[in-house]
Amino acid sequence: MTLDTKNKSTLHESVGSLVYTDDVLTWAGRNVNELADELGSTPFYVYDRNHMTQRVAEFRKIMPEKLSLHYAMKANPMPEVVKHMASVVDGLDVASGGELSVALKTSIDAKDISFAGPGKRDAELKSAIESNVTINVESETEMRRIASFGDSLGIRPHVAIRVNPMYEIRTAGMKMGGRPSQFGIDAERVPAAIAELATYDIDFRGFHVFSGSQNLRADTIVESLEKTTDLVIELAATSRTPISYVNLGGGIGIPYFPGDKRVDLNLIAPAFHSAIERFSAALGQVEPIIELGRYLVGESGIFVSRIIDIKISRGTKFVICDGGLNNHLAASGNFGQVIRKNYPVVAVNHSEKSELVTVVGPLCTPLDLLGNKMLLQDLSVGALIAILQSGAYGASSSPSSFLSHPACKEILVG
Ligand SMILES: *Cc1c(COP(=O)(O)O)cnc(C)c1O
Repeated sequence: MTLDTKNKSTLHESVGSLVYTDDVLTWAGRNVNELADELGSTPFYVYDRNHMTQRVAEFRKIMPEKLSLHYAMKANPMPEVVKHMASVVDGLDVASGGELSVALKTSIDAKDISFAGPGKRDAELKSAIESNVTINVESETEMRRIASFGDSLGIRPHVAIRVNPMYEIRTAGMKMGGRPSQFGIDAERVPAAIAELATYDIDFRGFHVFSGSQNLRADTIVESLEKTTDLVIELAATSRTPISYVNLGGGIGIPYFPGDKRVDLNLIAPAFHSAIERFSAALGQVEPIIELGRYLVGESGIFVSRIIDIKISRGTKFVICDGGLNNHLAASGNFGQVIRKNYPVVAVNHSEKSELVTVVGPLCTPLDLLGNKMLLQDLSVGALIAILQSGAYGASSSPSSFLSHPACKEILVG
């Protein structure tokens, strides 16, 4: 079969070129077979430190200097990754008390840490207040709890209002805004919330608006930014105190599937320039922030697992691996995908031949499907496969205790 070239070209389009040295996949400058031997067990994730650094540098080069870049930790909360990201970005966004404690151990100042997310527990709010981070409030009741904890602790909390906008961004992979939501305070109620905030001993810093994840379309990113800019300026006008903080959320996507095109930052940078100009004209000194997760780390990681068995059932060749949806839920299509599509999967050992196979994990559920009828290079029991684009929403977003397999390792190299 001459399917190999086709396989390579679809891969190239979505994820760029891969490096094989002596016919073995190299990641972060390391031979993946050797890495597996050193780690002593599969499956595992390997993240490329330099890739993350470069991604941040490229972003900063193209985007306005005045735009602060924060890392949204939940995309990859591995402490070494967070520590590294902290050394190259301006701030961190956390979504739980657990993430907050990791963030506080990095080089990032508390004033550059923001804490978003619905359902913050009392203890989480108290530690956020005590550590002086900015809390993005998700509801009026949360705002009242923050006010009362601030009073009892004798500390003035720093707060931004997360706004649930009235518009909806249609092409975003995960939609937020325009509809009832557990995230943020509905835009139409924000003026009243600001007025109530002013009656408390709270430092009201500004707004947080996050309208969706995995957005690959420059035009919708621009449209969403323009609407967010209008909204923030309009809401800020209702505050009697000046605002200093505008968190524009995250959500820039990365290509996963054939046909996905990466976002050209040059197409969105001018809109960020004009948003920043509008903010400073209307609001004076404000810090505009973008908080990215997936875009900064998603392409830096691969997930490696070992082939345990190969079988043919009624004409379909199944490749059965030791890592499944318990380690990589997103690759199985069960983490926010509407129509299941294959993540890019490659053999770690290069060969000229390829075959049409179905790649599955070891779990006793048909959901544990990692590659449906895809072309893979010559495979054998004991060989390794790698799932690309796995640096974000991987290990920590997977149900690792499902079926009680051993924990999967993660390493940061480079
Ligand atoms: C998850 C999250 C992000 C990051 O989203 P990405 O799509 O990974 O960029 C940013 N901000 C908040 C509040 C989040 O919850």
